[in-house]
Amino acid sequence: MLGLYLHIPFCSAICNYCNFNRGLFEPGLKNRYVAAIEREIRQAGRGEGVDTIFFGGGTPSLLEPGEIGALIRACRDSFDVTRDAEVTLETNPETASALRMEQFRDAGVNRVSFGVQSFREDELKRLGRIHSADRARTAVAEARQAGIDNVSLDLMMWLPQQTQAHWKESVEALIDVGPEHASLYLLELYPNAPLKEDMARSGWSLAPDDDAADMYLWSLERLENSGYEQYEISNVARSGLRSRHNLKYWEDGEWLGFGCGAHSTRGDLRWKNVSATEEYISRMASGASLVAERRELSPSQRLEEALFTGLRLTDGIDLAKVSDRYGSDVWTRYGEALTPFIRDGFVIRDESRLRLSRNGMLLANEILQVFV
Ligand code: SF4
Repeated sequence: MLGLYLHIPFCSAICNYCNFNRGLFEPGLKNRYVAAIEREIRQAGRGEGVDTIFFGGGTPSLLEPGEIGALIRACRDSFDVTRDAEVTLETNPETASALRMEQFRDAGVNRVSFGVQSFREDELKRLGRIHSADRARTAVAEARQAGIDNVSLDLMMWLPQQTQAHWKESVEALIDVGPEHASLYLLELYPNAPLKEDMARSGWSLAPDDDAADMYLWSLERLENSGYEQYEISNVARSGLRSRHNLKYWEDGEWLGFGCGAHSTRGDLRWKNVSATEEYISRMASGASLVAERRELSPSQRLEEALFTGLRLTDGIDLAKVSDRYGSDVWTRYGEALTPFIRDGFVIRDESRLRLSRNGMLLANEILQVFV
């Protein structure tokens, strides 16, 4: 089954750490964009089976529920979307209300992923977020009242001035709110992030690396004790409620991306649409190709990719299956490079599976370089 990803590149304000493909919301541009992406979906559809639709951004919840409904309809008209497909809307708390949540549900959304990031006001301010912790709590309640019973929250750790105690406050608040799924991301400061300047100007600093590691390990244990299972480096879920869409990225699945900058993966092919919103709309209008980059992977590149993504999962990968699928013995190829990590307990090989230990997850970037 395919997943469909729809990119909505508009935000009410630009956060000072954000490196995503997004811009400020403008009603006229948004209207033209929605028409273009609907057309792209209708042109691409060949009736293939689809079991997940994911609206990501940007802030997709800035669209009107009627527009989200029209895009879901375009997906259903053009693909064979299963009746129980997971349909996720990334939502910023300030865009939610009881009525909008009901309307999104009526439009076909059955999973909402809230970008909360922190339950502390000072941290939200430092990040340039425009919601409050209370608004986030209320937004989750509004989604629940609307009958959306699959809710995910994002939190960010290792924020400027964040201590271990501050991080624990946010994790405890998340547990109180009780979402079905949560993603815990480490703040990554890209080279020219305005947040870097804010930090220099205001004298804000990051906790030492060891504290960041403790924050990560503590939160996973705390969440496990509260009924969540970690299933990926940054993701936990209640039993049976893993993100079906995101699993396609880690389990060597296939998906089509629509909208500016969206990536697609089918078989050996990888391609990416043009990133700029205006260029995307004008190419769509003129019938020009939307593709900015296209690559065909060799079996050995596909093997690397499958290992690189699969080892992010707590279940890891089945060495025999992956070796068979790509016609190359994983152990012969990478065993020597992996041995030091296995010796130090960062990588575990049991029977035919290979996976990262929890301490190995802290070093994932380094370990996964073995496959690149
Ligand atoms: S809301 Fe999300 S996508 Fe928009 S600027 Fe902030 S971090 Fe970036």
